[in-house]
Amino acid sequence: MDFTKVAQKYGTPLYLYDFGHFEKQYRKLKEAFRGRKSLIAYAVKANSNLSVIKKFADLGAGADCVSIGEVKRALRAGVKNYNIIFSGVGKRDDEIEEALRLGILFINVESEAELKRVETIAKDMEIEARISIRVNPNIDPQTHPYISTGLHQNKFGVDIETAKKLYIYSHNSPHLNPVGIHFHIGSQLTQLSPIREASEKIANLVRHLQVLDIDIKFFDVGGGIGIQYSDEVVIEPYDYAQAILSTLSGLDVTIIMEPGRYLTANGGYFVSSVLYEKSNGDKRFLIVDGAMNDLLRPSLYNAYHKIEFITNSTSSETSKGDIVGPVCESGDFLGKDREIPKEIEHGDLVVVHSAGAYGFVMSSNYNSRGRVCEIAFENGEYRVIREREDFEKLIELETKFL
Ligand SMILES: *Cc1c(COP(=O)(O)O)cnc(C)c1O
Repeated sequence: MDFTKVAQKYGTPLYLYDFGHFEKQYRKLKEAFRGRKSLIAYAVKANSNLSVIKKFADLGAGADCVSIGEVKRALRAGVKNYNIIFSGVGKRDDEIEEALRLGILFINVESEAELKRVETIAKDMEIEARISIRVNPNIDPQTHPYISTGLHQNKFGVDIETAKKLYIYSHNSPHLNPVGIHFHIGSQLTQLSPIREASEKIANLVRHLQVLDIDIKFFDVGGGIGIQYSDEVVIEPYDYAQAILSTLSGLDVTIIMEPGRYLTANGGYFVSSVLYEKSNGDKRFLIVDGAMNDLLRPSLYNAYHKIEFITNSTSSETSKGDIVGPVCESGDFLGKDREIPKEIEHGDLVVVHSAGAYGFVMSSNYNSRGRVCEIAFENGEYRVIREREDFEKLIELETKFL
């Protein structure tokens, strides 16, 4: 990918996505489950640009959504309603109603109280709501605490005993149809054993429900497959598939996966330009035009992203320093204690890798900075898939109140 050309053409900062990489990741995962009924429901929250969702929809993907906004994005991008799942711990009544009206595959219920809301709303609409229940298997996914979700101390899902009770309740309700079961133990998973263990627990629950004549059709293993940001040893799709399939013997279920990061992270680049450099004492700072409001992960999770420098210098000498943005927060950095070329100039490029997931979607207008543009690279060509926000766009919801 020619970062220099893209930066010249569209200006910086910007996000650049390699759609070929997205496709390769999708196919690898799909292939790993060959011979089984499977659906990859792309976790839209990772990167919800309409053209990105459409890319996966064109490949046959469904969508895993965590708000009605995401459901509507998925539909607009061409995902079929019967391939859309609606998850999340706090759905409003209007979101539930609209999801039911749109006829999505199922609503993924995360608590007893929510199940009752779904039932009441379905009853008012005189329909039967397809649901799955998110079970919290109480397994330590061995990942960052902010992105761990499968422990009882996390807010997600219900425990196994509660899940049994809720399935029986749903089975007996004329307005609920429990078609699926769901778990998602965390994100950026690099260990297989927690996944296998969780899958085993949930598969046993499915067998238990079968005895009660409750027939689960969709076995939703969530997302969370990790990617390589630096030197992590990651899970191979084949091993992932085998770990899950090994727990499903005798069960005739469609396997649903909800990968987000795995599909998009390493196909994305955040491209910024050098503004200045300075030293405070012996501490070196490289100030670039991209900031935490554009890419929050370093500030929020202290996440590591590989950073590439594109300069005209022939020297390969480097020295340590921080790469920071213009935002008025000390936490505003893209990288800390990195080796930075000694000779680097105004206008040289600083490219943050692995920025295709939880990048643009977490951006904000903090410091009245417009959101940056998003560019797709596909079949050798670059194209804009979201315009840069200009000043008028930034203030458009406020001006009429002046
Ligand atoms: C966030 C999330 C995902 C996607 O997680 P990744 O780590 O990006 O794969 C999938 N399912 C649910 C329910 C989620 O909350």
